[in-house]
Amino acid sequence: MTLLSVQAAQERILSCFKPVEAETLSLEQCAGRVLAADMFSIDLPLFDNSSVDGFALIAADAVDTSAASPRTLNVVADIPAGSSSDVSIMRGQAARIMTGAPLPKGADAVVMVEDTDFDYQSPNIAAPAQVKIYKSVKAGENVRTRGMDIKNGQKVLSAGHRLRAQDLGMLAMLSTAKVSVFRRPRAALLSSGDELAPIDQPLKPGKIRDTNSHTIAALIEDSGCEVLRLGIAPDQRDAIQTLFDKSISMKADVIISSAGVSVGAFDFIKDVVESNGSLDFWKVNMRPGKPVAFGEYRGVPFIGLPGNPVSAFVGFEVFVRPALGRLAGLETVARPKVKVRLAEPVESDGRESYLRAMVEESTGILSAKLTGHQGSGNLLSLVQANALLIIPAGVKSLPIGSPVDAWWL
Ligand code: AMP
Ligand code: MG
Repeated sequence: MTLLSVQAAQERILSCFKPVEAETLSLEQCAGRVLAADMFSIDLPLFDNSSVDGFALIAADAVDTSAASPRTLNVVADIPAGSSSDVSIMRGQAARIMTGAPLPKGADAVVMVEDTDFDYQSPNIAAPAQVKIYKSVKAGENVRTRGMDIKNGQKVLSAGHRLRAQDLGMLAMLSTAKVSVFRRPRAALLSSGDELAPIDQPLKPGKIRDTNSHTIAALIEDSGCEVLRLGIAPDQRDAIQTLFDKSISMKADVIISSAGVSVGAFDFIKDVVESNGSLDFWKVNMRPGKPVAFGEYRGVPFIGLPGNPVSAFVGFEVFVRPALGRLAGLETVARPKVKVRLAEPVESDGRESYLRAMVEESTGILSAKLTGHQGSGNLLSLVQANALLIIPAGVKSLPIGSPVDAWWL
């Protein structure tokens, strides 16, 4: 069997996934969803408005003013935030104005209330008939003009972007009550193995807990997908086929399994998938997680992760997360890397290695220490880790201080 590079395996898997269809949701339902269309702005702000509490005026009326030589203006209007009044002012006039309120016609600047004789510290004082201006202002000062932040027609968010809090705020600013987003893909998940006991049943001798169902389900949800939890398939052909068929009837967009992809029990999953679709079984040049199965069951893509809990996790991050990202409509599925420095020497066997590490910042340097022994069943090494170090293929040892790529966990 050929040994595939991680990158080649990733590319072959990714090439079989395309985004699910879009749906229209109200803005309230869109946190974490992926935009299906580019979003364009209107002029923001939508109208000229004041950035301070103060007095709107004509800057030419306040030339060379100071506390020692103030200028007195007639206050002809009071403009609270939210007002839609058609106020206008002329030379020698001012209007009291609140932050965010529309600038009156004729005005070209606002002087802060602190730079006037108005008693701004007492509450509920009505606008005065006259105000003394203590400071000169330039035309445009303290005014947010229409379109100053964003111009009408400017693209603000792109299709394929996962919506964060600030993006939702932006869409609200644009009055986008309904948003076109990709629907959440459905990922069917099953564990396989006669030794596995679900969390709600007693642990009989020789059995172990089905760990991967819980880890991988959480990773699937974190990837923006819905999990169809199919539970545990015993090492029997019919039982496996039943679960695969169930995932088809539940309209899964992808089927993910763990274990049963090394020699032995693998044959059952292999038989079932091959007789209802097609299957590639790859040995990938990586550690942990060398065996990966990939194929299609009745037209639905299938990824088989290794059984050991750390291998399953790493296999998910390397192969499944990008595939789910593509399904979910994400424009960018590659995970950002950060450079860290080894705080201890590291040995590898020449395969592309994903090592569990604790990365801490000290004196401006991100420095990485391995979290105990790196056995593929030692989940504690992942529990204590905040990063996965990526040691490239072909590297067998790295001295302390070496720079390496890492993924934050
Ligand atoms: P396999 O790929 O079936 O040979 O499994 C490799 C190792 O992973 C074995 O020690 C299994 O018992 C273990 N394993 C398989 N599935 C799970 C699971 N869902 N949770 C925890 N350990 C598992
Ligand atoms: Mg097994």
